[in-house]
Amino acid sequence: MSILDEVRSGKEDIVEYAEECMQKAKGIDREYRYFTAIAEESAIGQAREIKKNFQKYRGKRLLGVMVSAKDAICVKGVESCAGSRILKGYRPLFDATVIERVKREGGIVIGKTSQDEFGFGSFSVNVGLGFPIPLNPFDRGRSCGGSSGGAAGLARKADFPHIALGESTGGSIAAPSSFCGVFGLTPTYGKVSRYGLIDYGNSLDKIGSIGKSVEEVALLQGTIEGHDPKDSTSLSHPHEGYKELKRNVKGMRIGVIKEAFSDAVEKDVQKGVRSGIARLEEEGAVVEEVSLEFPIRYSLATYYLLAMSESSTNLARYCGMRYGQAGELKGNFNEYFSEVRSKHFGEEAKRRIILGTFARMSGFRDAYYIKAAKVRTLIIRHYRKAFGKYDALASPSTPLLPPKFTDIEKLTPLQHYMIDVPVVGPNLAGLPHLNVPVGMEKGLPVGMLLIGDHLQERKLLEMGMVFDGE
Ligand code: GLN
Repeated sequence: MSILDEVRSGKEDIVEYAEECMQKAKGIDREYRYFTAIAEESAIGQAREIKKNFQKYRGKRLLGVMVSAKDAICVKGVESCAGSRILKGYRPLFDATVIERVKREGGIVIGKTSQDEFGFGSFSVNVGLGFPIPLNPFDRGRSCGGSSGGAAGLARKADFPHIALGESTGGSIAAPSSFCGVFGLTPTYGKVSRYGLIDYGNSLDKIGSIGKSVEEVALLQGTIEGHDPKDSTSLSHPHEGYKELKRNVKGMRIGVIKEAFSDAVEKDVQKGVRSGIARLEEEGAVVEEVSLEFPIRYSLATYYLLAMSESSTNLARYCGMRYGQAGELKGNFNEYFSEVRSKHFGEEAKRRIILGTFARMSGFRDAYYIKAAKVRTLIIRHYRKAFGKYDALASPSTPLLPPKFTDIEKLTPLQHYMIDVPVVGPNLAGLPHLNVPVGMEKGLPVGMLLIGDHLQERKLLEMGMVFDGE
């Protein structure tokens, strides 16, 4: 009987168990810096409440499972900053819907995980001013990916039952999961409520799950999804639960995206992903090459125009008056806003405010923002056409193995954005996608991306099971 089983059956004291897990989490944090806030007090409080009302929680899906939340997801009473200094000290008075659902099912929320400020990045190096950069679980001199870097790193390192809540706007679940060698599911847009998520780009943001196994990812996804009247973009699709998942690829048609294996993709990554595809074929999948030139060529520009436009609007609320840090009013209001924002936003947030505002300005709006919105529709059509023929599409999750921090420093902002080429397409189209760890090259993990049609999460999870425990 595992310790978790003992906790779930009431044989092991859940409070003592939670205390032990918190000690372990703190030890990992000292070495790898995965947390922005460790929620010890509230986690132990939750364990006590479960102990007191054990009969009510007995048999609940997540009973005794430790769950971490990306910093952008609001947890009642726990500092929630989306990795930004401008929100330092903010303790929400409410739980995000996903947190409410986790707690209802007996999951214990252990803390908030590190991320690029507001999700702006692919390596978790764009953390807000004063926040530490999380380190790769396989090599501390390398990045654990971003923006949900702390979530993926902790999912890899935790030596107690733990699943992480991440968030993806344009790849922030798949990319760090790939760099940390874990499974990461980004669900269909609208399947999981965004209520209580600190926005990056509202038409793109999706909360999802990261774990060491498909089973764990499915367990958390099944807990958090389902309609929420508090989010107007939440789908009314029935809650799935993902019970009785079975490894299933026989006869599945998989389209391997031809353009996703260009010279820009490191040879080691290509090798690892090709071996993953071969593995699916051995298990009975029908594999074919498919050309998706349009999405691969245009998704990056489209994504960054839309994401920056939306994020610059969202960041306007942090002006030192209603939300976030305040300053001292000396001159006029414009000077006041500028001072507060200059002092508390990091460099990348400022870059995005400038670029996003430019793309939305009258005179440029039609040329950039509106055009990008139209191209997004075309990109969706290309994917939909492919799904007329295939059950899933496959590509690398990232073009490179986890890079060294010293190499990331040399990248220009554009080179930094280019890392997202494989992941921005499915994010723009709101398609579910799963990072599957397909093995190691040079001692570092390689991730394969499986993309499904809208609402086909189950199919992706069942394919991913081929790699469970490998
Ligand atoms: N790297 C992408 C960006 O910087 C994606 C981030 C995300 O999904 N939050 O926008």
